[in-house]
Amino acid sequence: MHKIPDTFCPAKWDELYVSFEMNYAYSCCKGKTTKFTDTVLEFVDRERWAMLQGQQDPSCDYCWNVEQEGGKSLRHHHLEKFNADTFSYYKHNSVQPKLVQVSLGNECNFQCTYCNPKFSSQWEHDVNTRPYQVFSDRFFYAIDPKQPDVMENNIKFLGGFNHIGTLSIIGGEPLFNKKFFYLIDTVNADELQLSTNLAVKQDTLDRFLRACNKFNLVTLRVSIDATGSIAEFTRHGLDYAVFCNNLNYLIANAPANLKIIIGSVMSSITIRDLSEFSKMVIPLLGKQVDWHLDYCRDPKIQSMHTLPDHYKTDILDELVKLEKFDIRGVDMLQSVVANTTFNRILHQELKHFMQEFSQRKNIEIPLCLD
Ligand code: SF4
Ligand code: SF4
Repeated sequence: MHKIPDTFCPAKWDELYVSFEMNYAYSCCKGKTTKFTDTVLEFVDRERWAMLQGQQDPSCDYCWNVEQEGGKSLRHHHLEKFNADTFSYYKHNSVQPKLVQVSLGNECNFQCTYCNPKFSSQWEHDVNTRPYQVFSDRFFYAIDPKQPDVMENNIKFLGGFNHIGTLSIIGGEPLFNKKFFYLIDTVNADELQLSTNLAVKQDTLDRFLRACNKFNLVTLRVSIDATGSIAEFTRHGLDYAVFCNNLNYLIANAPANLKIIIGSVMSSITIRDLSEFSKMVIPLLGKQVDWHLDYCRDPKIQSMHTLPDHYKTDILDELVKLEKFDIRGVDMLQSVVANTTFNRILHQELKHFMQEFSQRKNIEIPLCLD
């Protein structure tokens, strides 16, 4: 049997993240992003080679730092589950990745307040027309140069694999992308994962439900964080009534291999609607529907640093009520709401930003920000 080098980590082969829009590729969600010029794996292949030579490649500093301090790194966790008999496939670079994530580019029909030009073409257009007066989050709204032919490159790249364990797709809004169905028709994967804003016509939804047939498992993360006018403001482009119809239709017609995750990234604005929002989500939870709660870190002006203290008691009470359900992220959100200190400067910036946003869109801010 081949000796496994001390610096080996299977995730360097098992996971692959690629964006043809930005020309970046990296293996493992904790690996350093590299910008390729000629071939997608030009850096990743070098990193794999270094790993096999017993070198601590800097792309994995995330793990080396943990290990240097005597801790158990993500690499250690991967190695615990690794079947050593398969090492020779890794050594000869002949393993197929278990997880491949591709970006479809930033085409999106929404302009959510906490999104940015990298993920939303609506944001890109808005910032290109006239930049926002932002201070703490100025890098968040930067527009990076983009490469053309993103979908063609994705289709060609994914077609090069005999088989993929899980294909994960990020956008933009995948269901808004005209070549999305062609892409998933051509790729050979067991599982599919993607996020959607669900602002689609019913025939698109029907087409998606039919497309699920070719996979063993499809995990669809439906993004929503509030109800009514607050949802329509923070997820600009959303028609809340249409969204609810689509969500109910999706759940009613979901094939057995479709897992639906209601994904909520709570900002200092949307968390104020948690009580109403919970009333909408809880009745939907069940065998095929989960709820994952997360919180906004960037832009900083929409993080919990701009949640005035006098709202916290009610929100924490509401979070206690959610403890009895099987919802991911409740404890994390409790800790973040309770422990994040209010920042007056960021809060002023939030108010300026929301005023500008609402003026540009000719809409009302649906709640008092103080
Ligand atoms: S060593 Fe760590 S950072 Fe590198 S691929 Fe493995 S898990 Fe990822
Ligand atoms: S729907 Fe998603 S990609 Fe589109 S603007 Fe909102 S958060 Fe960004």
